[in-house]
Amino acid sequence: MKWNYRCPSCGAEYAIEPGRYLCEPCASRNAPGLPLHGVLECAFEGKVEPGSVPLPVEAEFYPALPVGNTPLWRPERLRSELGAPGLWLKDDTCEPSGSYKDRASYLVAAFARKHGIGEVALASTGNAASSMACVGAAAGLKVTVFLPRSAPVAKRIQVLQYGAELREIDGNYDLAFDTCLAYTKETGVLSRNTAYNPLTIEGKKTAAFEIVRDLRTSRGLPVAVDHVFVPTGDGAIIAGVIRGFEDLLLMGEIERMPRIWAAQAEGSSALARALDTGEFEFRASGTLADSIAVDAPRNGIFALAKLKKHGGSAVIVTDEEILEAQVLASSRAGLFAEPSSACALAGFIKARPSLGKGETAVVMLTGSGLKDIKSAARAVGASY
Ligand SMILES: *Cc1c(COP(=O)(O)O)cnc(C)c1O
Repeated sequence: MKWNYRCPSCGAEYAIEPGRYLCEPCASRNAPGLPLHGVLECAFEGKVEPGSVPLPVEAEFYPALPVGNTPLWRPERLRSELGAPGLWLKDDTCEPSGSYKDRASYLVAAFARKHGIGEVALASTGNAASSMACVGAAAGLKVTVFLPRSAPVAKRIQVLQYGAELREIDGNYDLAFDTCLAYTKETGVLSRNTAYNPLTIEGKKTAAFEIVRDLRTSRGLPVAVDHVFVPTGDGAIIAGVIRGFEDLLLMGEIERMPRIWAAQAEGSSALARALDTGEFEFRASGTLADSIAVDAPRNGIFALAKLKKHGGSAVIVTDEEILEAQVLASSRAGLFAEPSSACALAGFIKARPSLGKGETAVVMLTGSGLKDIKSAARAVGASY
């Protein structure tokens, strides 16, 4: 199988090698604090072994920890309460570091090992940092993270527990992102910044393969996936999930693309608004769902193009709806997810009247509720 990076905007191709991040001609328009131009896509030629997931790093380089293959829940009580018999929950709260980000960190760590790279750095709102620190610990990598001081304490402590170097930023994620880029440019350390490193998108496609496989085995027959609800901030998870379904379509594993929904918080809805207007407009973010709070979605341009190509949709929910959905998932399904994840369930609840009654909808629950106890306490009216 032959792999390359390809620029979705101009079609230029590049080798997948250390030091290559963006498509340089397209990236010349980039400015701090804006969605990135020139984000590259992983592209391959050749035949995929049935049952395997095509990824640009060979299996022998992955570190020894169990990433992915997370459960797909059939939430009976939630289904009957919501009148949604086709609802499924994809549970990534049980990843090693407690979030979906492990799928990307796993691929980046394998890439580092393949190329003999000893250090990885990244900016994060919390989960990407704790994830890279976790996977890096198992892989024997030095990990340096740039984290806003306001990040939930559990995510910060995870970083320290896993033995990574924590650099706290007096500012938001957007400032952490730019500070980290300056650090990796100066030092030559491998950047795991979301979207900037194309592997962070490609690594996130694996869940699509698992969903299709598990829906098949759970009923013995191929089941079409009609809708997938993805909590969205920077737009890397949603783009990765779409990449996965694109591969599955190409491989003949599915007959058509599902409708992919970007679920966003009212206070951080840049991608949803751009899907509506065609343009990204700057607005400072404000939502308690910290993992999806971004001023400028770094992967916005890439994700928007993918959503448009496949007829994707967006749904915007309030912080109150997010907290209600969080409690609902906990109390009716037994699945305790952080607010950023619960956003996807809130989005499903809001969009449900427009979906077909028997249609299959998978809600991606991307992070553990234990990561942000303060918001969880607020949701149940408990003091903290
Ligand atoms: C990062 C994250 C998201 C959003 O992913 P993007 O790629 O930024 O859109 C959603 N939920 C959780 C728990 C996350 O950590």
